[in-house]
Amino acid sequence: MCPHSLLFRTHPSSRYSVAALIGVLETDPRLLDLEIRAPITLTDEDIQRSVKEGSAIIAHSVMSTQTKRIYEEVKRVREKYGNRVTLVGGGPHASARPKELLSVGFDYVVIGEGEHTFPELVAKLLSGEDPLVIPGVVGRDSEVWPQPRDIPIVNLDKYPPFALGNNIVGPIEVTRGCPFQCKFCCTPFLTGCKVRHRSVASITKWLALAVERSGYTRAWFLSPNALSYGGRGMKAEPEKLETLLRESTKVEGLNEVFFGSFPSEVRPEFVTQPILEMLRSYVANTSVQIGLQSSSDRILALANRHHNVEQGMRAVRIALDSGFTPHVDMIFGLPGETKKELHESIELCYTLVDMGAKTHGHVFMPLPGSAYEKMPPGQLDSESRRRLGDLSRRKKMTGAWSTQEGLAEFLWSQNRDSKNKNEPC
Ligand code: SF4
Repeated sequence: MCPHSLLFRTHPSSRYSVAALIGVLETDPRLLDLEIRAPITLTDEDIQRSVKEGSAIIAHSVMSTQTKRIYEEVKRVREKYGNRVTLVGGGPHASARPKELLSVGFDYVVIGEGEHTFPELVAKLLSGEDPLVIPGVVGRDSEVWPQPRDIPIVNLDKYPPFALGNNIVGPIEVTRGCPFQCKFCCTPFLTGCKVRHRSVASITKWLALAVERSGYTRAWFLSPNALSYGGRGMKAEPEKLETLLRESTKVEGLNEVFFGSFPSEVRPEFVTQPILEMLRSYVANTSVQIGLQSSSDRILALANRHHNVEQGMRAVRIALDSGFTPHVDMIFGLPGETKKELHESIELCYTLVDMGAKTHGHVFMPLPGSAYEKMPPGQLDSESRRRLGDLSRRKKMTGAWSTQEGLAEFLWSQNRDSKNKNEPC
C-alpha cells in the first residue's frame, strides 16, 4: 500500500532542519499529492487520520540527546500500527548510529545531508519502489553502510531554506561544513570539512518571498562560524560578509537581521575590531556568541580547537569595545581536564561576567560522530555546581549544563557498547 501522507515529527531542537526538509518536499514536483504535516506532538489521532486512507510515512530527525524519547515513541507506534506506517530516521544520531535506529523499529535511515536523499526516498515509497537503491538510504537488508562523507554534499542554493508552503519559516542556513575538527563536535562528521555558502542572491530571494508570503520581518542566519561567510572557512572575508549583510538588510519589508548571535557562533580568531564594527552597523542583535570553551590552552589544544585562551579574551574585549555583549561558550569536563582546570574555567566565567560578558555553559557530552565519542562524560563536583548555579540564578549564564551531566552519562553508556567507528571527514 503506497503512502499518501507524511508526518514529520518535530521537536524544538530540530525544527530548523525540519523546516528546510519540508521546504524541499513541498517544492518537489513528484510529491505534489503528498499531504505533509509537522506536529510537535504526535498523537494517535494524527496517525489514525493518516493510516485511515492508506499508509503513512512518519519521519524523525534524531539528535543524540533525544534518543530515549524517540525510541520509545517509535516502538509504541510500530506495535500499534504495524506495517501501516513507514518509519524514517535522519539527522545527526541517525547518521552515526543507523543500525541502532533500525534495531528499534525504523524502516529506513537517511545518512548525511537530507536535501537530495530524503525526497528521493519519499518518491520511491510513493511509487512502491525499493528505496535501498538510493545512495545514502539504509535499511535492515542493506549490505553497504555509508558514512556522511561518502554521500555527495549538497549545493544549498538548489534547495529552499524553509517551508513557505506550510508556513514553517525559520532561520536561513547560510553556511554549512566546517574545516576545523574540534574533537567534541559532530559537525565535521555530519556535514564535512568543505565549507559551502548559500549565495547572497539565493538568500535575498528567499527573504523577499518570506516577507511577501509569511509576513516575515526578522531574519536569522545560521552558520557554524558566522564570520567565515563567503570564504573557505579558515579566515574571514570581510568584503563578502559585508555584501551579505548589506544586500539582506536592503530587502523591502524586512526590519531586522540577526547574525553571529545564538544559535550561530563565531570563532575567536575571526573577531577583529573592523569586522565587528561593520557587523554592528547592519545587525539587530546586541550580542555575539563567541566559542572559547576552556580557560586552559592545554585542553583547547587537546580538543583540536586551533585557538588559545588569549585569542578568546581578545575577541571578548573587541566585542565589548564594538558595542556587543559577548556571550561566551564554555564546556566543562572536556576530556583530560583536571579538577583544577575545571575550577579555573569556572573562575574565568566570573572574570568574563565582571568584564561585561555573559556565559553559556555546557557539560561535555560524548556525541556520536565526534572524535571524542568514546571519551568519558564531563562531570562536575559540588563546588562547580554551586558556582554555575550562582551564575545561572544571576542570569549571567545560560545553557543546559545542569541537565547535560545526566545526558552525557547516558550517551557514554550507549557509546561504550557501540562498535561504530566514525571518521569525521
Ligand atoms: S565546534 Fe565549531 S569550529 Fe569546531 S568543528 Fe564544530 S562547528 Fe567547527
